[in-house]
Amino acid sequence: MLEIRNLSKRYPNGVQALKGINLTVATGMFGLLGPNGAGKSTLMRTLATLQLPDSGQVRFNGNQVLRQPQLLRPVLGYLPQDFGVYPGMSAFSLLEHFALLKGLSDKKARRRQIDALLELTNLSRVRNKAVSGFSGGMKQRFGIAQALLGAPKLLIVDEPTAGLDPEERNRFHNLLSDLSENTVVILSTHIVEDINNLCPDMAILAQGEIIARGAPDKLTAML
Ligand code: ADP
Ligand code: ADP
Repeated sequence: MLEIRNLSKRYPNGVQALKGINLTVATGMFGLLGPNGAGKSTLMRTLATLQLPDSGQVRFNGNQVLRQPQLLRPVLGYLPQDFGVYPGMSAFSLLEHFALLKGLSDKKARRRQIDALLELTNLSRVRNKAVSGFSGGMKQRFGIAQALLGAPKLLIVDEPTAGLDPEERNRFHNLLSDLSENTVVILSTHIVEDINNLCPDMAILAQGEIIARGAPDKLTAML
């Protein structure tokens, strides 16, 4: 269970990106829909404990995770909207590196999991190639593999399907659905269809505020 209370964030340039967000999300797929600039990425980075809000709190399974991010990180998967710069390491080495950071200390189990994720994201053939040289779609799939390391209990996915072809997109959606049986998955997007097909529950974010919450068939009828 993810509980967000009174979360507010104002950037130094004066933009009030979040205005007192309150939201409780149970296990399963949850869609966060909003136009560009609504505050989705700010909220996603805050939930991933990569950015602190000005005020408010976030609890995951009862733990105050903004105060104690170390309690969340081992069970957190985060797929950012943009991936930044990768070092010239191979896909396999980089996944191993992230797996170690996540505390996956058993070498055999770790490698088995990395092999399975490379297979799942269709990257087995390029496992020894540098991620920095990957195409956009491949980087996207690599990001998915990275986010799924350690079988996260909270998975934060920010605008995921840009750069995926329709088949990859389907595959990724199926994967999220399977995972969501015992994981809180928050899917942030400006694409209504992504949420309609996947999420039994959703909210609409506009100008830093939750303006509606409920089932997609009811909410998207308002749009
Ligand atoms: P999004 O597509 O989620 O709206 P943007 O493309 O606006 O994100 O932003 C991309 C990156 O630039 C993010 O890391 C964001 O924090 C940063 N950014 C966005 N707007 C500004 C701004 N006005 N000043 C400084 N950084 C910004
Ligand atoms: P979304 O993901 O819904 O597009 P963002 O969270 O990226 O929304 O941005 C919300 C607002 O905050 C936008 O007006 C954006 O320009 C601004 N913003 C985002 N990141 C920064 C930043 N690092 N510095 C200043 N303003 C930012």
